[in-house]
Amino acid sequence: MRPPTAPALPKESPVAPSVQDRPRFAALSSLLSAPEAATALELWDIGEQESAIAGLVDVLLHEHVRLTERSRGQLAVLAETWGVWDSVGDRIGACEATGEEDPPWQLLRPGRAETSGGELVREIGPGHVLRGFELVIWLECGHCDDVLTRAYTREASGLSFMALSYAVVHPTWRRSAEAPSYPRASVFTTAYEALGALDACQNN
Ligand SMILES: [Zn+2]
Repeated sequence: MRPPTAPALPKESPVAPSVQDRPRFAALSSLLSAPEAATALELWDIGEQESAIAGLVDVLLHEHVRLTERSRGQLAVLAETWGVWDSVGDRIGACEATGEEDPPWQLLRPGRAETSGGELVREIGPGHVLRGFELVIWLECGHCDDVLTRAYTREASGLSFMALSYAVVHPTWRRSAEAPSYPRASVFTTAYEALGALDACQNN
């Protein structure tokens, strides 16, 4: 029987590539030279989307293309959606930055993402929508303390292969469990929805 505090979140991986992904990929490919962008889109269009994303990341890295943090975040979410974040995430993080003054968000470096996620888990008390999940913080808002976190389940072999949900959380950083309504959290099934919620801060 499920304990009463069992998370009421989807059991299936939320990975749901959509028709919007091609224009998203095309927009990111436009950072490359025209011939390279054409090659990348050809790969996408023959159904090799995962290779197309990995190839795009490689060219961005090796050609020293400077990324805005907005582009970096969008590329991260596209990679996640197509199941290749684990293999290309480090390289996305390693791409050069434009050094903009007012980035909408920042991708967390892997070590810090795990540590901060662990601290965040300590704030999650019984009855919270994220109770029972392992949290890996992915992006932090450039304007407020909100973070976009990936929510995994703990399995015998380690964390679940894919994040099961995404959440935008406003941490209290009190390092202890809070009332069920804190830390404030909005849970999403897709990474794009969560990114949109993180971005909403810019428009307020
Ligand atoms: Zn914010």
